[in-house]
Amino acid sequence: MLDTESKIVNFEYAPSIEAIDIVRIEPKNKLFIGGKFVEPTSKKYFASINPATGEPLAQIADANAKDVDLAVKAARKAYNTVWSKMSGKERGRYLFRIARMIQERARELAVLETLDNGKPIKESRDIDIPLVAAHFFYYAGWADKLEYAVPGRAIQPLGVVGQIIPWNFPLLMAAWKIAPALACGNTVVIKPAETTSLSCLLLAQILQEAGLPDGVVNVVTGAGETGAAIVSHPDINKIAFTGSTDVGRLIQKSIAHTDKRLTLELGGKSAHIVYEDAAIEQAVEGVINGIYFNQGHVCCAGSRLLLEESISDLFVGKLKSRMEKLRVGNPLDKNTDIGAINSATEFGKIKKLIDSGIEEGGEFFEPSIELPKKGFFQKPCFFNKVSSAFSLSRVEVFGPVLTISTFRTTQEAIMKANDTQYGLAAGVWSEKGSKIHKTAAALKAGVVWANTYNKFDPSSPFGGFNESGFGREGGRHGLFPYLSIK
Ligand code: NAP
Ligand code: MG
Repeated sequence: MLDTESKIVNFEYAPSIEAIDIVRIEPKNKLFIGGKFVEPTSKKYFASINPATGEPLAQIADANAKDVDLAVKAARKAYNTVWSKMSGKERGRYLFRIARMIQERARELAVLETLDNGKPIKESRDIDIPLVAAHFFYYAGWADKLEYAVPGRAIQPLGVVGQIIPWNFPLLMAAWKIAPALACGNTVVIKPAETTSLSCLLLAQILQEAGLPDGVVNVVTGAGETGAAIVSHPDINKIAFTGSTDVGRLIQKSIAHTDKRLTLELGGKSAHIVYEDAAIEQAVEGVINGIYFNQGHVCCAGSRLLLEESISDLFVGKLKSRMEKLRVGNPLDKNTDIGAINSATEFGKIKKLIDSGIEEGGEFFEPSIELPKKGFFQKPCFFNKVSSAFSLSRVEVFGPVLTISTFRTTQEAIMKANDTQYGLAAGVWSEKGSKIHKTAAALKAGVVWANTYNKFDPSSPFGGFNESGFGREGGRHGLFPYLSIK
């Protein structure tokens, strides 16, 4: 079939389903404490589901404050007796070994991530897992060179760090947290998100097989209360949190009277600025990638599109016809562009926000594609011609929902892009380097991509301004939050 608007032939693809027999999921998943998989003292378990089918995948241990305490004790012991005493070169060798083992088991990890999270296999296979390995490789390289990261200063690890991560990039967020912490000589107690613990537990198995000394990394699964128990534990030296701004605020308040260090990677409402001289097709692809990638479950998702007025109709027309061709469905199908929303809760939140936008009066568009009958699937959509006062221009939806407005001058574009409580990322699209530099310099965002979007590299620091949090992960900067620098 020939699409008259974009002149692109729309091919039908036969399904190409990734086999799942490479993955063995334990029916009951214990906690990983002191180098062993142990029953939770709570004796409680909860279910993790496959969001593409709604069916349970496995039972996950629900750690209580006692379990968290055992994990912190194991981490303290490992810190005092082994890890803080080990040379950087030795620590680096462990990290290199872990990175190689992740590469060897990449397919298994990718399939497991897709089953538990709902993200398309092409993303977990081509983005998440390769970046996980790359992070371990990158920080393995730093472990014996820390004195060059902060020349002329005396440095020391902090001790035991508590790490709490979200469900959108489960294993990647674990790697972002664990790799720099270990490279710097700290030991770890980490809590994955309640709905996506499985890949972190498989990583624990890999750490065990890599011979990482007992207690250097401990995985405590559970819900928000488990996270809160980590935050309030008196023998933790630092908290590293990635998640919502609301929980980030809670954590900051609850440790304000202590000397615990804190880094927060929070929400976002990032803007794309597309100038009229941009390569339009490339920008359409970038905008699609920016907001519909990973079902919009990306903290730095480009969820606000600012178009120069002169190209607005042309751009929106192309965007619509491209969206008609997106494949939403079985995350295990290698052709799938948009997979399942991670949980019933998130699904309900997104639906409610979309309904509120429609009620408020935005010009709503969603493609005519069909969705699977089972599981949590959401069509990609946008609200066109909205003002900055429109609620969805301000609220983080954390789903495949874009808002579109226009601008006439560079100043107006910058003003609109910065008109947010967040400041995580931005995208600038133009043929002119000078315009890109001028715009980027004025944007209050931790990352600015030019003529591309959602590109990650372990050597590049990532983090936000304002309510998007503080502290940087990745790159040399990503070492500092795990070091005491004198
Ligand atoms: P969330 O509700 O804040 O959860 C994040 C983590 O905190 C989960 O492990 C959660 O456990 C735990 N938690 C919940 N309540 C807690 C408490 N009172 N004390 C300690 N820990 C607690 O966030 P989410 O909805 O899962 O994740 C989406 C958010 O993360 C979005 O706002 C997104 O922008 C942000 N995010 C930011 C970045 C970044 O780098 N800036 C990256 C990814 C995501 P449960 O899973 O059991 O609730
Ligand atoms: Mg799940």
